Amino acid sequence: MIPTVQSVLISESQIEKRVHELGQQISKDYDDSDLVLVCVLKGAIMFFADLIRTLAVPARYEFVQLASYHNDTKSSGVQMIQGLYQDLFRADVLIVEDIVDTGMTLELLLNHVGSFEPTSIKVCSLLDKPDRREVPVSIDYLGFEIPNTFVVGYGLDYAQHYRNLPYIGVLDGEGLR
Ligand code: 5GP
Repeated sequence: MIPTVQSVLISESQIEKRVHELGQQISKDYDDSDLVLVCVLKGAIMFFADLIRTLAVPARYEFVQLASYHNDTKSSGVQMIQGLYQDLFRADVLIVEDIVDTGMTLELLLNHVGSFEPTSIKVCSLLDKPDRREVPVSIDYLGFEIPNTFVVGYGLDYAQHYRNLPYIGVLDGEGLR
């Protein structure tokens, strides 16, 4: 059974405001760069689509797809479903993630992107759950730090549901873990 959404953690207007702030900062930092944004499917799609439209610099973009071994709220490993095809040699790569939890997904991705020998690799994530970190990874552009709770909406799912919500919500029965 799919749990219902209990409360709104981050509203649509809070997301919109923060995405614009991030876009302004990224535009400033990447002025005069060969910027390639890498969107991590499926979760980052909403954030990515909103973020790229706030950028004032020319940018290319690519998609990768990764999946954690889970179908509810627990993760136990990461698998690359679709890697990058475009040559990123000497590019300035900005990875766009939905959420950094244990850090395992980001670690795999940083190694994959690094194998193309880009000039730089930075990370932009909408959400961060620092209390859950198992692998030391750093985030260069962060939307919001959140507590240790399972969230859905704005691209994030519970067993593939709730990705279409325009806000970030907490599921029923999902208090702090
Ligand atoms: P990590 O590899 O850092 O543990 O987890 C990254 C992935 O796990 C995210 O890209 C996301 O797909 C999933 N994930 C981690 N925390 C949450 C959460 O609170 N809600 C949802 N829907 N997915 C999460």
